[in-house]
Amino acid sequence: MVEHSEYDIIIVGAGPAGLCFARSLADSGLRLAIVEPQSEALLEDPAFDGREIALTHQSVHLLEAMGVWQHIPAAQIHALRDAKVMDGERDIQQFTIDHSEGKASQLGYLVANHLIRRAAFAATRTQDNLTLYAGLRSIAAETDASRAEVQLSDGRVLRASLLVAADSRFSETRRAMGIGASMEDFGKTMLVCRMRHEGRHEHVAWEWFGRAQTLALLPLGEHESSVVLTLPHAQIQRLVDADEAQFNAELSERFEHRLGAMQLSSTRHAYPLVGVYPQKFTGNRFALVGDAAVGMHPVTAHGFNFGLLGQDLLSQAIIDAHRRGMNISGDGLLAQYERRLWRATRPLYLATRTIIRLYTNDSPPARLARKAGLALGARISPFRRLLAAGLTQKGNSLSSTRPVTSALKALVSR
Ligand SMILES: Cc1cc2nc3c(=O)[nH]c(=O)nc-3n(C[C@H](O)[C@H](O)[C@H](O)COP(=O)(O)OP(=O)(O)OC[C@H]3O[C@@H](n4cnc5c(N)ncnc54)[C@H](O)[C@@H]3O)c2cc1C
Repeated sequence: MVEHSEYDIIIVGAGPAGLCFARSLADSGLRLAIVEPQSEALLEDPAFDGREIALTHQSVHLLEAMGVWQHIPAAQIHALRDAKVMDGERDIQQFTIDHSEGKASQLGYLVANHLIRRAAFAATRTQDNLTLYAGLRSIAAETDASRAEVQLSDGRVLRASLLVAADSRFSETRRAMGIGASMEDFGKTMLVCRMRHEGRHEHVAWEWFGRAQTLALLPLGEHESSVVLTLPHAQIQRLVDADEAQFNAELSERFEHRLGAMQLSSTRHAYPLVGVYPQKFTGNRFALVGDAAVGMHPVTAHGFNFGLLGQDLLSQAIIDAHRRGMNISGDGLLAQYERRLWRATRPLYLATRTIIRLYTNDSPPARLARKAGLALGARISPFRRLLAAGLTQKGNSLSSTRPVTSALKALVSR
């Protein structure tokens, strides 16, 4: 006979979104199971993966409330004061998103992804309503009128009232539940690594759209930044394999020595540029969170910020329903989550897609459109103020993403 265990909620995937969702339900009185192929040792101490996550004030507020932020060493939290968007090589146009336009001392924070994962895992260790199934995959998932069921790779079966998939933008659980997704492969890859440099970054992030390449720089410690270079895949692979001296020389050159000589200070990582947006976020007794729900392209640095927003919307609705003795997997609750997450994420997802199309295209019309967009962004101070306000606001989770989404929509629709 197949052994099975009963829970209220099964979470597939203990990435940052799945762990934060579990954490948000710590005091709910609900029994949770979380399934993850990585071993417990790897979850406890994940390796550096090159990603530096730009977090909004609202995201930090959520991480604090769920007791995750407290597990990130203060010295590893970097200030993101302002951001500068540039276009061109010699004749550079630019506009700056200034923290003071959002009435805060900085736009946001930068924290390495592996440290967020480590902190989220550390926070869940004290949680007695959570059972971890580490080193195991979910290999089959289904729901019916009375329950949700997941089969683990060791043959065991978990049952619950609700199934939540947080198993990445390429979610197998989403597919198993029959939910399709539109995937957009931009045919480019991002190289991410840390580099030390002679010059100072003054805690200003750069997004620099040059001819045939996109460069970004995220300020970390003094004289150290995270470098993000976007190019066709073969060129990125060549740079990943290049010896260190050659890599340093080429990157310093690509940045036109604006920060002086640059030196690699971490491992190098490559991520293909793929955006994913599913047809829907919910099904019968089923919901998506994190990248499984919205697989944002990193250009607007909102993937995990949306992951946090989504898990907050869903967990708060569940806590509220449970407190009132209502069904935690009811159609009404899931439909409301679906609507709210769609409204909060769809405009920025579409706007980001348009921006990438524009910036990964070097045809003369695209270059002209970029110049016009930047000139507008530079001239219209309400636009910059909206962007700054969206990043710096704490308040209500939905209203605080609106300024960013409407500002970007306004820019790309002009
Ligand atoms: C280069 C780069 C830069 C980024 N910068 C930013 C930024 O500045 N700001 C921002 O907000 N976001 C940023 N992001 C996005 C952010 O990294 C993601 O949104 C976030 O990590 C997604 O977390 P997740 O838990 O949803 O998914 P993942 O981290 O993909 O975790 C999914 C988990 O599910 C597990 N899993 C998979 N299949 C199964 C299965 N069958 N059974 C059980 N478990 C399974 C996996 O092992 C994994 O642990 C960036 C992304 C990249 C690539």
